[in-house]
Amino acid sequence: MKKVDYIIVGQGVAGTCMAMKLMQENKTFIVIDNHFHKASAIAAGIYNPVVLKRFSIVWNATKQINRLREVFGDFEKLLNKKYIYDFPVYRIFNDEQEKKTWLKKATTHPDLIDYLSTETEQLNQYNAIQNPIGSGEVLHTGRVDLTNLLADFKNYLVDKESFLDETFDYDALVLDDNKASYKNIEANRVIFSEGYNILNNPYFKNLPVIGVKGEVLKIKTEAILPEAVVKGKEFLMPLGNNNYFVGATYDRDNVNYENTTEAKTYLVDGVKQFLKTDFEILEQHASIRPTVVDRRPIIGPHPIYSQLICLNGMGTRGTMLAPVMVDDLYDFLENNQPIEKEASIVRFYDRF
Ligand SMILES: Cc1cc2nc3c(=O)[nH]c(=O)nc-3n(C[C@H](O)[C@H](O)[C@H](O)COP(=O)(O)OP(=O)(O)OC[C@H]3O[C@@H](n4cnc5c(N)ncnc54)[C@H](O)[C@@H]3O)c2cc1C
Repeated sequence: MKKVDYIIVGQGVAGTCMAMKLMQENKTFIVIDNHFHKASAIAAGIYNPVVLKRFSIVWNATKQINRLREVFGDFEKLLNKKYIYDFPVYRIFNDEQEKKTWLKKATTHPDLIDYLSTETEQLNQYNAIQNPIGSGEVLHTGRVDLTNLLADFKNYLVDKESFLDETFDYDALVLDDNKASYKNIEANRVIFSEGYNILNNPYFKNLPVIGVKGEVLKIKTEAILPEAVVKGKEFLMPLGNNNYFVGATYDRDNVNYENTTEAKTYLVDGVKQFLKTDFEILEQHASIRPTVVDRRPIIGPHPIYSQLICLNGMGTRGTMLAPVMVDDLYDFLENNQPIEKEASIVRFYDRF
């Protein structure tokens, strides 16, 4: 029997941040992942503290942004590669009223003053972008290159013999009073960070995780565009070499991993509303966001088997949420600190 402190099931952004935390705290662990449709690997990885529909602040935004920089900065140091790209997000205004609301919030709203710029003309120099009313700039935003980070970190774990490339077999899990055994591994706890696939986990399948399918495109254009996310009906994000990410759809009705022509058309039409230049579609991808009824993550122990731990519900914002949720979960598991009520699994214990 190999003995470890933790088994982590799922190496998306949540499981990856958890593994980093355990490593930094000198805990032993094994990560198990089957690479079956990681939402994290196709996500744009944008971090943005402002809800662009309503111009409101994201829950715990400042704490999340600060911690994100530290945690993904630690990955940069460990793997000796750049993953964090700072750039602004420009939100194209649909009408004068939106611009007025933006400017008012940018100057008077205590939570937004630090994040909304009052400059509205920055996109005017780009002929390829149509923005007759102007655009609002969100500050302290950017992107984490999760696709490469996850792949590089997996290789790192493989080298350390801390990674099993397989589908976790729930039938092979044996629970005794306060431990868990899986095949030839004995662990104090098993952390399940399986994203949307949590609904196939017999221990946590009753949690109210709702899949929201998202499709994205990678396009190529020769147009001169800003080093920034441009958000009109859809968003455009630079990937280097004249490649751009276009996203994303939100589909709660057809929740599967298939690329569809409907989504492709929808995204192309959406981007053409503000991008006045030709582009070539290079790739299309689909995955499923693990969202929760009340839009908060779900972390904490199973109500009966306290050695089984849930780390899920990262929803549409895993890049910002995962680092702080991992801290909170670790402090609960190792330092007896309470989990913030809003994110605690306890709020759903009546479903077990
Ligand atoms: C199109 C799209 C765009 C997005 N853009 C952004 C964005 O710009 N910014 C942002 O913050 N968020 C974005 N998101 C949301 C973000 O992707 C999610 O919040 C986040 O990826 C969820 O991470 P996770 O680790 O919980 O799950 P996942 O990334 O889905 O990882 C779960 C992992 O567990 C593995 N797994 C599951 N079950 C098993 C099993 N039984 N055995 C072995 N392995 C298993 C899966 O293979 C997978 O690798 C986007 C999502 C989509 C779909």
